[in-house]
Amino acid sequence: QEMFTLGEMVTATQSCPDELLELLGEHLNYTVKVVSPEEEDKKLLAQFGIDLEENEGEQESRPPVVTVMGHVDHGKTKLLDAIRHTNIVDGEAGGITQHIGAYQVHVEHAGTDRAVTFIDTPGHEAFTAMRARGANVTDIVVLVVAANDGVMPQTIEALNHAKAAGAPVVVAVNKTDLPEANPDKVRQQLTEYGLVAEEYGGETMFVNVAAKPRIGIDNLLEAIILTNDAALDLKAPVKGNAQGVAIEAHLDRGRGPVASVLVQKGTLRVGDSIVAGGAHGRVRAMLDESGNRIKEATPSRPVQVQGLTAVPSAGDVFLAADDDRTVRQIAEQRQARRRAAQQAARAGRTTLENFMDK
Ligand code: GDP
Ligand code: MG
Repeated sequence: QEMFTLGEMVTATQSCPDELLELLGEHLNYTVKVVSPEEEDKKLLAQFGIDLEENEGEQESRPPVVTVMGHVDHGKTKLLDAIRHTNIVDGEAGGITQHIGAYQVHVEHAGTDRAVTFIDTPGHEAFTAMRARGANVTDIVVLVVAANDGVMPQTIEALNHAKAAGAPVVVAVNKTDLPEANPDKVRQQLTEYGLVAEEYGGETMFVNVAAKPRIGIDNLLEAIILTNDAALDLKAPVKGNAQGVAIEAHLDRGRGPVASVLVQKGTLRVGDSIVAGGAHGRVRAMLDESGNRIKEATPSRPVQVQGLTAVPSAGDVFLAADDDRTVRQIAEQRQARRRAAQQAARAGRTTLENFMDK
């Protein structure tokens, strides 16, 4: 009832924003302080002398991390496949590629070898879920627009995600092999949303591609490198304990929990003690996207890690620490907190319902 005097309509089982809870507390002469799970976790890590924001040590250039987004059926999956395949040397690892949630390709640019990391799970959900967890992994967004279909609602949604993340956009105008394709119309349409093509005097690179017959893929990779060099100066410390994000994870029958992680700082090595969400363990083995065993991974490198005791969630931050004890304690405290939060949620609902009955 007090909520009504504050001008809010709520039901007994509805959750409400933190500010509203704090306001309600004030109104009832209580001090209500809502602590976000992120803040709590920060405090927990601080107890072990870990600060995720810390960015010390010598900074070195790192490759961009690219997410492919766009309207359904415009060719995101096909494009990711095409990029991956142009880069696979025939016969490498028996031609078998692993789906580890991300992969790195190498581009020859101005005489040097440049790496680009692609997040292999297209779509907004993965992107939004990670951002909601504070894991902003994307440096550049490749916006796929089918030239036979033009700009569609999810194209705009994707564009808004990119803007919110502050990530520069490269537009891949796809399906240009189709007779009804109209790539210039896509350029015109996107002008209305602030993406003006370079050839129209703007700053956004548009590249005509056809993912299915794999046409224009090299040009797209070149555009990504050029956009990176023009708009970004990506650096990360290479020394020190690794830190990054779990991209996807599952339980493998033979190998136990396996997690694909993207290293964002430091170097991850076989034998390191790591914690990801409520899971911890020691890195027993690391595989790259071709299924090769590797011993260490530096920033922007995606790897599949074996040796965790449980399966972390996509978007969980992972970090390596100096010893097993630290990672175990962090994981245990997170698990305990999660259980407590679940209990509180159940209990809280009943109390509020009782309270409303009176
Ligand atoms: P997604 O939903 O964005 O991941 O789209 P998909 O990659 O699954 O592609 C949707 C459909 O478009 C599939 O049938 C693809 O074979 C087809 N497709 C994708 N790229 C091209 C292209 O460049 N040319 C043509 N003709 N078809 C394409
Ligand atoms: Mg798809």
